[in-house]
Amino acid sequence: MKKGKKLYEGKAKVIYAAPDKGMAIQHFKDDATAFNNLKKSTIEGKGILNNRISEHLLSSLNHIGIETHLIKRINMREQLVKLVEIIPIEFVIRNIAAGSLSKRLGIEEGTALKDPLLEYYYKKDELGDPLISKEHILSFEYCSVTTLDFITNQCFRINDFLQGMFKAVGINLVDFKLEFGYIRHENGSVEKILLADEVSPDTCRLWDSKTDKKFDKDIFRKDLGNLIEGYQEVARRLDILHEQTNIRPIKFSKPIAVKIKKNKWKLI
Ligand code: 5GP
Repeated sequence: MKKGKKLYEGKAKVIYAAPDKGMAIQHFKDDATAFNNLKKSTIEGKGILNNRISEHLLSSLNHIGIETHLIKRINMREQLVKLVEIIPIEFVIRNIAAGSLSKRLGIEEGTALKDPLLEYYYKKDELGDPLISKEHILSFEYCSVTTLDFITNQCFRINDFLQGMFKAVGINLVDFKLEFGYIRHENGSVEKILLADEVSPDTCRLWDSKTDKKFDKDIFRKDLGNLIEGYQEVARRLDILHEQTNIRPIKFSKPIAVKIKKNKWKLI
């Protein structure tokens, strides 16, 4: 499928215009960033795995009646999606304390929460995506109360479904981030609100149910080992790694110094 002009480039994905109006091509890059861009790397194969895993999760959600932007995966790195206007809020759902929640409130990582907890973050890189309240959302009109109620309901349904899906393959869905977007009528009124962006080990915390081993982006954030092995394990357990992807685990060994002599080189 022929890509049109670049519409948006984020840290891990690029959105291009698609040949058909109202559609876009979402391209998954191998770039990894953390701590608001302070830590950066390129991890060969990450985009391919996220494309595949997100396709599987979003199409499963489509099947249970959660409308998403996904139309279909078109190749190893790209999906055809509905073009939406992203709502500037990141919706984070937590089942187990970890990450910024543990840090902010001093709750020990791994503590199971009484009920799933929904948090809102204002999508603004310059501000480091700050935590906001429902009152902020309504006061600054980031979205309407009807939209917020609808999305809140979707978040808990998505959490129930995904938690069950991961539990069945021995993975705890610790927390995850969702983004939603509008499709508008010609007159500008909202026609639909769709789940957009991606749901993948880049946007979820996924821990082995027995050992708490991490299979998500924390491997990169906290230097816990081989990220590709973690993402591959998620794909393997979800039974979606059938095709040959040519992704091999990358060994992050120490760089070897090489001494170059005239037309010769040797390891030192
Ligand atoms: P935390 O607030 O603990 O850093 O993140 C909570 C959950 O949301 C984690 O699963 C994390 O991966 C996801 N998350 C929150 N913000 C972002 C973001 O800007 N990018 C990505 N990839 N994930 C995010």
